[in-house]
Amino acid sequence: MKDRPVEKCAVFGVYGKNFEAARIAYFGLFALQHRGQESSGIATSDGKTLSVHKSEGLVTQVYNEASLNSLKGAFAIGHNRYSTSGGSTPRHVQPIVSKDKSLALAHNGNLPQTTKLEQFLLSKKVSIEGLNDSELIHAIIHYFLKQGCSLEDALKLSYPRFSGAFCLVILTKDKLAAVRDSFGIRPLSLGKLNGGYVIASETCAFDIIGAKFLRDVKPGEMVVIDKKGLSSYQLEEGNQKLDIFEIVYFARPDSLLLGKKVNEMRRMLGINLAKQHPVKADVVIPVPDSAIPAALGFSQQSGIPFDHGLIKNRYIHRTFIRPDQHQREMGVQMKLNPLPEVIKDKRVVVIDDSIVRGTTQVKIVKLIRSAGAKEVHVRISSPPNKYPDFYGIDTPNQKDLIASRMSVEGIRKHIGADSLQYLSYKGMIDATGLPEELFCTACFSGIYPIDIGTHKQKINFQPQFQLI
Ligand code: 5GP
Ligand code: MG
Repeated sequence: MKDRPVEKCAVFGVYGKNFEAARIAYFGLFALQHRGQESSGIATSDGKTLSVHKSEGLVTQVYNEASLNSLKGAFAIGHNRYSTSGGSTPRHVQPIVSKDKSLALAHNGNLPQTTKLEQFLLSKKVSIEGLNDSELIHAIIHYFLKQGCSLEDALKLSYPRFSGAFCLVILTKDKLAAVRDSFGIRPLSLGKLNGGYVIASETCAFDIIGAKFLRDVKPGEMVVIDKKGLSSYQLEEGNQKLDIFEIVYFARPDSLLLGKKVNEMRRMLGINLAKQHPVKADVVIPVPDSAIPAALGFSQQSGIPFDHGLIKNRYIHRTFIRPDQHQREMGVQMKLNPLPEVIKDKRVVVIDDSIVRGTTQVKIVKLIRSAGAKEVHVRISSPPNKYPDFYGIDTPNQKDLIASRMSVEGIRKHIGADSLQYLSYKGMIDATGLPEELFCTACFSGIYPIDIGTHKQKINFQPQFQLI
């Protein structure tokens, strides 16, 4: 497991008559770069065989004219990866393609429990040595295909053996399929493009390629797309539990989640934060980029002017930053530079979307003080992050989550702020304008909708959790 929160991966799929599918996938993955910056891959089918190109790096580094030209066909799936439990070695770069080039698969999410899957494969004498969760999923589908099943049947038979969070895009020589777990923990949407179909982790990918958003792939649904069109199968009754962290931090503000614009929900997070925790100050500044909409909301509600006080170098990517503590601290410095002319002699409210370890906030408060701020008031547009995630983010071990060890006052002292306040749980839910039941709130509430098995023993559940 990584020792730091990592972005969830992105998946993409496209099919349309006479499409140059690899090129569309390339632009789709480019729009989804924020969900994974470690590696990228595209697999295509020309109706006869599959081709694949994948490697470590950003989308713009992984592909060139030659590689895109080599990816022939009107069907494509793609993946951007940020390492979750599998680690980050090149072996884990997706899509996973079978040796016989009959099946390609890309997975976003994480299966915290794979015993059922492993036992099944072992009972069928399929070697599972060294396979990660995504490869196990690939192996079982491949097994059923080899038994002569159609892709639809192979997926129907495999599905009950998956337990966890998964959005899958799957490619055979003449079919594209997408499957979403019954809790819909990770987002997955369906769009239409020139008579063909597109599947993407987030709807921002549709805008970039000129596709029209149709609807979300439903929790528990399988969608199969081929020359005849689109068919939908409900494999299991759905019980929507979208990871609320998608709204707080992960998703792009121009995406729609549960039919609502992320930007608007984030602005409401900031509005509610200002209502709950007002402060006398001269300027509101966001920690860019993720906290910009919430800071605008805070400014709008409080009447305190918004300004940019920290400038982010947008070209620093995790690909270049090794995850040890020293590098992490350097990373913050490389990333953010303060604007003294905005900050000097001011009482500053700084808005961030979350505190995970606290490393970033310590640096930010120092930077703002060094730029001459009179007071630094930190406001966080989500509640204290006390519980680790097992569904595809891999937030650190619980002990590394600063809010699981320290009180809000303790964290305030640690980061050196004049005041620190978090948005309440209820304030966060209300900001979405949607019912609490639609979300997985595990990282804030410790309520895990999908069994996390033995991981449970590692967690200290704090009884004082209240819905306030
Ligand atoms: P930390 O407290 O661990 O130093 O970092 C908190 C910062 O990381 C916040 O500014 C937030 O925007 C960002 N953040 C929150 N969750 C994640 C995540 O899962 N991955 C990455 N790369 N950053 C995150
Ligand atoms: Mg941030």
